Amino acid sequence: MITFIGAGPGDPELLTIKGKRLIDEADVIIFAGSLVNPGVLDGHKEGAEIHDSAYLHLDQVIEIMERAEREGKKCVRVHTGDPAIYGAHREQMDRLDELGITYEVVPGVSSFLATAAVLNKEYTLPGKSQTVICTRMEGRTPMPPGEKLVDLARHHSTMIIFLSIGFMDEMTAQLMEGGYEPTTPVAVVYKATWPDQKIVTGTIADIAEKVKEAGITKTALTVVGDFLGDEYELSKLYDKHFTTEFRQAEE
Ligand code: SAH
Repeated sequence: MITFIGAGPGDPELLTIKGKRLIDEADVIIFAGSLVNPGVLDGHKEGAEIHDSAYLHLDQVIEIMERAEREGKKCVRVHTGDPAIYGAHREQMDRLDELGITYEVVPGVSSFLATAAVLNKEYTLPGKSQTVICTRMEGRTPMPPGEKLVDLARHHSTMIIFLSIGFMDEMTAQLMEGGYEPTTPVAVVYKATWPDQKIVTGTIADIAEKVKEAGITKTALTVVGDFLGDEYELSKLYDKHFTTEFRQAEE
């Protein structure tokens, strides 16, 4: 049994209790060294075999898993944030299926949720946006039809843009072309929940320049939308004049 574990955004205390226990019990650990905080591995067993997947291609990762399985060792594959978001764990799971090796996934706190937390914001503000789009810019890997930033921008929803901090000029141009006002608020969060976290706020018109000034070139998320502003409607759920399953409306 191989376990895929979401390591969370950075702060080792944001690992789930289950993820932590499985890392602590593991004989073989494969982790994405470029993004996972090594602190999440701190409780590992003495003598655990630790591999940084940054130096490995898919076949090598699978070979390590296959060998661990053959030797009856507990193997964990530690991904940053949650593996279901740009984690590339599907291709590993499919290879394990072919080999008849079982696995399970322990979810983690994705960096986009940690980003909302450090900004003290809610992505789904009533009357502003009730939809969250997680996407990335077209870079070295192309986007499927209909998913270019300019297409998605037409929805005016809350947008979370991963993996694209190197393309800020193009990103902001596409957001405006898609219909966002240049005054729409934007925040860029570098290494959310790490000790060297940085937050840059601005608008679509000025964020690219501010990000350059801050020297941010990687490991950052760009979040866009009016949810960053201060205008919204109060929720119905907690409205005293609104009846819910649990509470009668007051007169
Ligand atoms: N599975 C991860 C995302 C992997 S893709 C998750 O759920 O968060 C890697 C990209 O995620 C980075 O380029 C960056 O855009 C974002 N990212 C990962 N960790 C981050 C963090 N702590 N703060 C800000 N962005 C982060």
